[in-house]
This record gives sequence, structure tokens and C-alpha cells, in this order.
Amino acid sequence: MDDLPPFTHTSVDSIPAVHARVTAKFHSHTTRPIEYRLKQLRALYWGIKDEEPALYEALKLDLGKSSYESYLAEISWVLNDIIFMSKNLERFMKDEKAEDTALTNLPLRPRIRKDPLGAVLVIGAYNFPIQLSLGPLIGAISAGCTAVLKPSENAPNAARIMQHIISNSLDPEGYQVVQGAIPETTALLALKWDKIFYTGNAAVGTIIAKKAAETLTPVVLELGGRNPAIVTKNADPRLAARRLLWAKLHNAGQVCVSQNYIIIDRQILGAFLLQIEAALKEFQPKGAEGNSDYSKIINERQWLRLKKMLDSTRGKVLLGGKTDQASLLFETTVVQVNDHDDPLLTDESFGPLIPILPVDDLDAAIRAANEIHATPLGIYPFGTKAETDKILNQTRSGGASVNDGFFHASIPTLEFGGVGDSGTGSYRGRASFECFSHRRAVTTTPGWMEGLLSVRYPPYTDAKFKR
Ligand code: NAD
Repeated sequence: MDDLPPFTHTSVDSIPAVHARVTAKFHSHTTRPIEYRLKQLRALYWGIKDEEPALYEALKLDLGKSSYESYLAEISWVLNDIIFMSKNLERFMKDEKAEDTALTNLPLRPRIRKDPLGAVLVIGAYNFPIQLSLGPLIGAISAGCTAVLKPSENAPNAARIMQHIISNSLDPEGYQVVQGAIPETTALLALKWDKIFYTGNAAVGTIIAKKAAETLTPVVLELGGRNPAIVTKNADPRLAARRLLWAKLHNAGQVCVSQNYIIIDRQILGAFLLQIEAALKEFQPKGAEGNSDYSKIINERQWLRLKKMLDSTRGKVLLGGKTDQASLLFETTVVQVNDHDDPLLTDESFGPLIPILPVDDLDAAIRAANEIHATPLGIYPFGTKAETDKILNQTRSGGASVNDGFFHASIPTLEFGGVGDSGTGSYRGRASFECFSHRRAVTTTPGWMEGLLSVRYPPYTDAKFKR
């Protein structure tokens, strides 16, 4: 990392030229052949491989992320994504035949082509800065689009190394990085894109959607969490405690899909709390402080937000609670809350807070989940099959892991996205290709059909209009 230039914002004045460059490249039609796409994917793969040590270092610097988590959720993730895309691209690009075509229409060969959307903008977030930036970029390349990536300025080292990899590996006419924060993103949003892919909080998501609406630009919005876990009286308390604790220790809870709170049947509360305490001792035998497996909070602004949130609760801290502003440490903290409008339930912590709301039965749990947030990004039911089915049948969410914390989101080829105010659109696996493709409906009318087609031309005689 030391030999890379420091993180600097791109000059706002230069942004229109960057946009013009990638737009012109798209209109040259040279990004469409599969050979070009595969060449870019291969180059990106080796660019990442060559810089693997620097990527680990950047994630350590930005988030205090352990190499193990960085490998699992960021580096191997994007490498495998590239392999998957490269293997399947030819199949994904193939035309699809129209379903159930009438015999008379068969000669027209009604079909869907997968055309690239054009020049696209990808705006990344800080918590998985590599995966959330390069994942959509891999989709854009695969679909034959050109792209500008605007990584999160809140993970500046990850942003630096990604710029280095992209500028050294990819065709500079087609793929560019713009660094910066609000002024630079605002300048990018003032330009006409063929799609905007944004990951981050809902307030900024609203700004993006409004700006995109002015030019009728389609958007993908991958937004915030506020996800419930529901633990019924018949759940295994040890299993639920270990799995939900894992989902909060990972990246110190800075995971959009981790549970924001746990709704639990009162009958199992005592056993669950004992198990969560035991699991914490097992996973962090020496605690959180100085623990190289445990991430820090990204920056002081987010640390202060979390601290304020914890201080504002009317609940009781049962476990953890230790914080240190200098090192941005925030212990995984279990809080028992008693009312639905406690700030720990209504706001997204996006950090290692585990508020637990006891309720009387399953119906009350489902009611509470729907009242607190009707359309979360994920939901995590623990219990019998009948209970977890009932939870899925009576709630909505972007995705769900039954009997687990956010594990569905760790399947790289499983389509991922929100619903309602947790997001619009989805990606990953084949969906990443589709996300940046236009499904173009095409028919070809052969000349020899003219005789048959005479029935469609006026005058509409009685002989033609036989009911
Ligand atoms: P962030 O601070 O990294 O911001 C995200 C992006 O928005 C950055 O690139 C930033 O430069 C840009 N941005 C910020 N203000 C802007 C403005 N006024 N105009 C235009 N662009 C602007 O990350 P964050 O938003 O704090 O991320 C946390 C949120 O993101 C949480 O709500 C989390 O749940 C959500 N998130 C969702 C997903 C998902 O896949 N659904 C993934 C990660 C994070």
C-alpha cells in the first residue's frame, strides 16, 4: 500500500470528461463481443490476485477487518464471482425464445436478446468496500456495459487499491474510478447514465432515486437493514444464540443484512441469554479489546452515532457495553428492551448492538416485526418448520435465512436485494448479468410470409373478420 498514491478526490471539473469517455467507448460497440468481456474479467481477476496482500492491508486499515473475514466475504468472493461469470457468460448471453408461441408466429422467431444497457455508474458503500463495489462492476462488464465506479470515501484505503487495480487491469476507455464524497457524487449524478447502481443508506438512496428520475435513469438501490430475528419458544436456544451472535460479530455488526434486533418468546428468554453469554465467551475468550478477529467501527462519526444510540435506549444492558473512542472499539452489546419504539429497534444500528424484545407468543412476535419495519432487507426465523413457515408466510423481506443469521446472503449465486424501502432491484450470480442487460424483444418477419400476412392489411373485409 505504501507505494500507492494517497487517497485524493477526483477533481469535479474532470468528471464530465470521464463520463464522456466511457459513454463514447460504449457507443463504439466494442464492449459487446464476448471476447472483450472475458478479457476484462480475466484481467480483473489477475489484478485482484496480484494485489491480494495489499487488499488485506487496506481492509485492516479501514475496518480492522481480519484477513479471514476479508478473504471469505471480500476477496475470494469477487474472485469466485469472476470465475462463475466467465464460465457461464456464453450461456447467459444466448437469446431466449418466447414461451408458448402460437404455431403461426413460430416463423418470426420471437426471442429476447440480452443487450448491454450502456454506460453505468456504480456507487459503493464502506462496510464491504471491495465486494460491494467490484460485485456490481463484474455484472456490468459481463453484460457488455462500460462503467464508472465511485467507491466509498469512508474506506479510503480500499478505494485506493481498487483504483490501482482497475486502472492497471481494465480498458481505461471503458472503466474508470472517480474518488470522492458528496460533491463528486453530486457531479456524477448530474450526468446521464444508462443505469445507477447504489449501495448505502436509504436517505442517500432517496437523493439518488430523485436525481435519476429527472433523466428517467433506472436505478438499483441496495439499502438499509432493520432486520428482525424471531426466536420462538420451540427454537434451540444454543443454536439460535451462537448463530445470531456470529451474525453480529462479523465485521462488528457493520453488515446490512445482520439482525437489527431479536424478538423472542418469553418462555425461552432465560435459556437464550445464558447461551449467548456462553457463546460470547467461546468466540472471544479474551474479550473484544485487542482482538484481531474483531473489526473496529469504520470512523469516529459512526462510532459516536452508535454510542448515542446505546445511550438513548430505555432498555437494560445485559452483556458488553464497553467502548473506546480512541481505538473505535465497540463491544458486542446485548440489551433487553421492552417497548416497540425503543430507538434500538426503530433505528438501524449497523453495528454490534443486540437488542432483545421479549413477547408472549409467535403471533405477537410476527405483529411486532411487521409493526417495527414492514419491509426489512432480511428476516431470521428460528423454530419448528411450521413456526418458521408461518413467519415467512406472514412477513415480507428482501431475503431470509431460516434457523440462521444472514447466511442466505453468503451464497454468491443467490439473487440478493431488498423489498419496499430496503431496496429496489437485485444482483449476484446470473442476476448481476441481468441487472445490467436490457431484455430486448425481437422478431424477424420472413419475406415468404407476405401471403399469410395479407390478412392484417386493410381493407378489413367481412371475409377477413370471421369470428
Ligand atoms: P457510505 O457512507 O459508504 O455511503 C454510501 C455511498 O453514498 C458512498 O459512496 C457515499 O459517497 C455516497 N453518498 C453519501 N452521501 C451522499 C449524497 N448526499 N449524495 C450522493 N452520494 C452520497 O455508507 P452508508 O450509506 O453509511 O452505509 C450504511 C448503510 O448502507 C446502512 O443503512 C446499510 O444497511 C446499507 N447497506 C446496504 C447494503 C445492501 O446491499 N443492501 C450493503 C451495505 C450497506
